[in-house]
Amino acid sequence: MSSLTHQRCFNHLLREAVARCPECRQHYCRECVTEHDDRLVCASCLKKSTAAASAPRRTWRVVARLALFGAGFLSVWLFFYFIGAMLVSLPTSFHELTVWKVNWWDQP
Ligand SMILES: [Zn+2]
Ligand SMILES: [Zn+2]
Repeated sequence: MSSLTHQRCFNHLLREAVARCPECRQHYCRECVTEHDDRLVCASCLKKSTAAASAPRRTWRVVARLALFGAGFLSVWLFFYFIGAMLVSLPTSFHELTVWKVNWWDQP
């Protein structure tokens, strides 16, 4: 640890370095490092690692929710579309409640 005493903080040139960031290999003073996963890392590396860990997960959750909403909306739309198409394709006599009077065998 004797070599550290000759090192200065990467951010504060007047301060003595107390730790070396394992990510960017720069020396930092007590104020510039934070403990993360039992290691002392600098603030910029901590920000980088936490952003990389949380950002894609949040984005995927939003995408998954949007896809789920889209799929649900599409299935409901298709359901009512086919019900509408089925009702339209039915003979008019069905809606007039006279379907039982039609003789299906004699239809052209
Ligand atoms: Zn760093
Ligand atoms: Zn510093």
